[in-house]
Amino acid sequence: MDRGLVTNPKDLERMQQELVSLERRISDLEDTELEVMERLETAQADRDRLTARLAEIDEQLGELTRARDARAEQIDSSMAAATEERKLTVQGVPADLLALYERVRAQKGGVAAAALLQRRCTGCSLQLNAADLGRIAAAPADEVLRCEECNRILVRTSESGI
Ligand SMILES: [Zn+2]
Repeated sequence: MDRGLVTNPKDLERMQQELVSLERRISDLEDTELEVMERLETAQADRDRLTARLAEIDEQLGELTRARDARAEQIDSSMAAATEERKLTVQGVPADLLALYERVRAQKGGVAAAALLQRRCTGCSLQLNAADLGRIAAAPADEVLRCEECNRILVRTSESGI
């Protein structure tokens, strides 16, 4: 009667070989497990380092975002103040002069008028010659003068040098 016992010597030998083979396989798998655990530790350390770096970057991003928002608020506020100031400034300016100003402003990157300082146009830095200065000096105070070089409206001041 078969009770599960191996009685055939060839079967026993085959089973012993199989056992040796399985033990070798177990040993190989244990080595592989160690390698995988080492790689896992390295990967976890990398993950921890990257997580910490990400937290730093998030914090910096938060600071920069807050600074940007604060600056944008300042700019909005300055712009609103400048817009209000402009409304007051243009009151009383003749319509044709305002139209000229707007036309030149569109052509000249937002700067339509330039002071004449020390005989020089502050819009383009051109030094005016004696003939132009003579013409400017002779012009009535309410005449709108233009720079020959940059075409901006030239504003005479006490420091114009004329
Ligand atoms: Zn000029």
